[in-house]
Amino acid sequence: MSGSKLEIICGACGEDALLRREPVFEGFKKTGERLSCSACGHVYDSEDEVPFKASRRAQVFTDADRTVDVAVFREEERARCCRYCVNYVINPFTQWCSLHRRDVEATDICDQFKRKPPEKPPEKPKDKPVRPL
Ligand SMILES: [Zn+2]
Repeated sequence: MSGSKLEIICGACGEDALLRREPVFEGFKKTGERLSCSACGHVYDSEDEVPFKASRRAQVFTDADRTVDVAVFREEERARCCRYCVNYVINPFTQWCSLHRRDVEATDICDQFKRKPPEKPPEKPKDKPVRPL
């Protein structure tokens, strides 16, 4: 695997670069390898000092990614959300649980959930008057 390309983030120049490996000879005898940055030529004394790109930390999920979970609520969980509860009060300024007397979110799940009676769908105006018999 000699000459294999390895990605580094160079500690000297900060570039995404490649690690250059060159054999070091003493006379005609190979005594080691010289490790250097392909971008700036900075020489690393040993492999331990090479800032390999693969060793960088995995990216941590942000809170923004987690909001996706709300969309994948299972049906039964959604059915117990505060928004479907009889104690859920919504006004322009807050969402409120009248049972626990505190602010809630529509997507909160509550042990004391009590289903709100289903809202009556708005009456559809009839297309045609019912014909008297
Ligand atoms: Zn460099």
